Amino acid sequence: MSDHKMHPESLMMSHGYKPALSEGAIKCPIFQTSTFVFQSAEDGKAFFEVAYGLREKGEKEEPGLIYSRLNNPDLQILEERLCLWDEAEECAVFESGMSAISTCLLEFLSPGDVLLFSNPLYGGTDHFIKQTLTRFGIEVMGFYPWEQDQLPELVKRSGKADRIRMIFVETPANPTNTLIGIKACAELARSLSTADRKVLVAVDNTYMGPLWQHPLKLGADLVLYSATKYIGGHSDVIAGACLGSKALIGRVKGLRTFLGCMAGPWTGWLLLRSLETLKARMDIQARNAEQVAAFLANHPKVERVYYLGQLNDPKQQAIYEEQCLSAGAMLSFTVHGGEAEAFRFLNALKLVKLAVSLGSTESLAEHPASMTHAGVDPEERAKLGIAENLVRLSVGVEHPSDLIADLGRALNAI
Ligand SMILES: *Cc1c(COP(=O)(O)O)cnc(C)c1O
Repeated sequence: MSDHKMHPESLMMSHGYKPALSEGAIKCPIFQTSTFVFQSAEDGKAFFEVAYGLREKGEKEEPGLIYSRLNNPDLQILEERLCLWDEAEECAVFESGMSAISTCLLEFLSPGDVLLFSNPLYGGTDHFIKQTLTRFGIEVMGFYPWEQDQLPELVKRSGKADRIRMIFVETPANPTNTLIGIKACAELARSLSTADRKVLVAVDNTYMGPLWQHPLKLGADLVLYSATKYIGGHSDVIAGACLGSKALIGRVKGLRTFLGCMAGPWTGWLLLRSLETLKARMDIQARNAEQVAAFLANHPKVERVYYLGQLNDPKQQAIYEEQCLSAGAMLSFTVHGGEAEAFRFLNALKLVKLAVSLGSTESLAEHPASMTHAGVDPEERAKLGIAENLVRLSVGVEHPSDLIADLGRALNAI
């Protein structure tokens, strides 16, 4: 085994955890404690020197446990395991996806900076950017997927090129699975960077989870997750994560310490449990989604399917091949008719639950126009293809024939 490099799914059972430090317990216990006892005053002093960045941690030195707002074994082990999927140097976990996103934006943006972002963004992120960041003198500038080819030109014409500090991207976009090219954004960021001012690319990778798209390998600097979705995967915990280089995540962790939005030990423990089955769950979910999408594409009550495995635009297909490792398990479709027909379908579902959120073991369906995207103004919604007859599905791990039977019965109720 000496030079055999194990896959992340194999390492999820053991990586970063030493049973001998926990009475031999096979699973990492929940370290439900606010503070940690120092063996000596000298130890306490040494731990604080490292925590406050007064000196670098020594080669063989273990990071000392101080206080659960700074560090806790459940969080540290979770962060080390999350790094394996994205091949990141470092990770910071949070009590929600929104706290990961907002902490990251606040750390790297200052008054006078411009944030360039892709449309549409997750509702919470969109609100935070437009309502909160702008109150602190940060300018925001959105672009649409169909403008991505002309983005360098649009940036140049805006007259703000030298003030852009970060490009924030969410791909595939929710709910229509439109792709934004991560490599092209990274190239643009490089072209806008100067020796003393690096333009960062941050990607919200929640929709693809840590398996199906690796933004850091495509040139992004930061990758963000709502760990509530695939990583947690059981609809029983809210959490988030941010990954990147040691230097960048060191800064994110610094602000996290002072905002106090780290994940608690119980959240950390739940996610460690979830990570053991992440690969198995996501494999089954993607396989099920492929069968569901094929069924929907041929159903007479269905107008159009938005699924990464059935793209018909060559530009989108090229981005897909460049950056996605799977078509994923999120799909949307329009039924013939309007809101009434979509509602009749949703109300007739039995196995598939009517709820927002995604990436969990159980399949979920929702109506974007009146639910997740109700806050988007109607004109903007129409522009983005979020129609009244659009339904979004998150495909779970149930047996595919049961899912198809449930969807078929509900479609026939229209
Ligand atoms: C859910 C979600 C978020 C927010 O995460 P929370 O864990 O609910 O705070 C951010 N981005 C995307 C794409 C999401 O789906």
